[in-house]
Amino acid sequence: MTGTAKTVPQNPPDNVLIIGGGTAGWMAAILLAHAWRQHGTRITLMESAAIGTIGVGEGSTPRMRVFFERLGIPESEWMPACNATYKCGIRFPGWSTRQGYRSYYHPFFTLDDNPFIQPFFHNADLRRRKSVAVDAHPDSFFVSQHLAQGRRAPVAGRGNYSTDYAYHFDAGLIGEFLKRKSLAMGVRHIEDTVNQVEPTGTGDIAAVHTERHGRMAADLFVDCTGFAGLLIGRTLEVPFHSYRDHLFNDSAVALPTPTELNVGLPSETLSTALRHGWAWKIPLTNRFGNGYVYSSDYCSPEEAERELREHTGQHDPAVEARHLKMRIGRREDCWAGNCLAVGLSQGFIEPLEATALMLVQETLEQFITAHGQGEAARAAFNRRIGQTFDGVRDYVFMHYKLNTRTDTPYWIDNRENGPCSDVVEALLATWDSRGGDILAALNERSEQLVYSHTSWICILAGMGRFPRNTRKAGHKHQPSDARAVARTCQGMVPLLPDHRAVIDAMLTEAA
Ligand code: FAD
Repeated sequence: MTGTAKTVPQNPPDNVLIIGGGTAGWMAAILLAHAWRQHGTRITLMESAAIGTIGVGEGSTPRMRVFFERLGIPESEWMPACNATYKCGIRFPGWSTRQGYRSYYHPFFTLDDNPFIQPFFHNADLRRRKSVAVDAHPDSFFVSQHLAQGRRAPVAGRGNYSTDYAYHFDAGLIGEFLKRKSLAMGVRHIEDTVNQVEPTGTGDIAAVHTERHGRMAADLFVDCTGFAGLLIGRTLEVPFHSYRDHLFNDSAVALPTPTELNVGLPSETLSTALRHGWAWKIPLTNRFGNGYVYSSDYCSPEEAERELREHTGQHDPAVEARHLKMRIGRREDCWAGNCLAVGLSQGFIEPLEATALMLVQETLEQFITAHGQGEAARAAFNRRIGQTFDGVRDYVFMHYKLNTRTDTPYWIDNRENGPCSDVVEALLATWDSRGGDILAALNERSEQLVYSHTSWICILAGMGRFPRNTRKAGHKHQPSDARAVARTCQGMVPLLPDHRAVIDAMLTEAA
């Protein structure tokens, strides 16, 4: 992520009403309370007992570390409460059919990873010259990939070495944890259902009308009503920009599988390509979360469930699968009048890179900074958040664009019929024709990019797509250097602790 907004309070409102008690609602409650409570702001969160939460969302990006650090909540407190595990990155088996590149890894990086980019170019150069390519997949050049393979915890170990990392957690438990914390910080919680929203007629919300508490007014309304988008969409009618042309998936089916007790605890998410989409496998302390994200244009819910059960080996009919629909895209503006939309009401990009809660956090942090700063700040905020959504969309889209599968029309259409954004088209053209210029091309577009240069190179080279010309890469690497880089990364593994041992120790301490 590019933005790291500071939470400095600017003219906080007197009275905030958050509608919705999913993860987005409780993240909003705790971050707004943290920023504004000491200035006297009253914060109320209302959720409907009759309308459930989405109940999925179990992977994060490294931004979640900042979220808990800012709130002063240590891992030893929240992780055991949420059955959480560490995440070194995401492995993508089956997206590419190229020999030697059938799986690739999107790592979370360390500063030390930067020099490791060079061997990518070296490999590319050797391939172009049809010389002997380094006998290492590009994944080998990143420490966290080795840590995940070794089922290590990416936390500081004996060598005092650390890499960036993220988390896996139980979606329901994290909501409950944030709720407890928010209540302790003075947030008021009510259970009720909004059945009518009263607009002012000048672009603001005057009040909501509820079943049990009657009319409720506020200075600021936070719409966390999920895909319903009750305030931002149905009432204020802020246009929704669909990403359907780029990202075909609109459905998911989820089911759990038991923990594998006799092997180490994985510290990565698996995102395996299936026939009409991809399946996640997320390790928690007490189970695996699994799900199949697919397009209903190519596959029925019954077929998807059958394929997921086959893939996971979960054939027990008593374990029910949950079927979900997804609306992919974003609001033109997520802050309109006195209403801020956060979470699924604001927009959603399919969960391939587990970015939804990162976008919730980013929106709230930037909103707190922009609030009270006038119309120009509001316009800049909306532009930035829109750009961030589009940037994540582009990176997720690149996975589909680079796939080389031919087994189903789904994969062929995703590669050939999904229109590229300007950013993706320009990056692909540069990479294909003169790969060495890719860093300059990425720099030119840094405003529009959410992911780091290294992430882009990881996906391109990791899927086995190599440039025709790497002359300008400016590298001086020899095959032996590349092997040395891979060996150095591998050498870090014993310096970091076993993942299960770290998690078990944390659980024992919390008990
Ligand atoms: P919801 O959970 O739907 O909550 C909506 C709330 O609004 C509920 O409390 C409901 O009671 C309330 N409400 C609605 N209408 C009314 C009303 N009229 N009156 C009062 N209250 C009302 N995110 C990630 O970060 N990582 C992941 O790995 C990930 N995986 C996902 C996989 C799938 C298949 C899907 C669909 C999503 C995934 N997400 C993921 C996204 C993540 O689940 C959501 O971003 C997150 O849960 C926030 O949801 P929410 O709070 O916006 O909405």
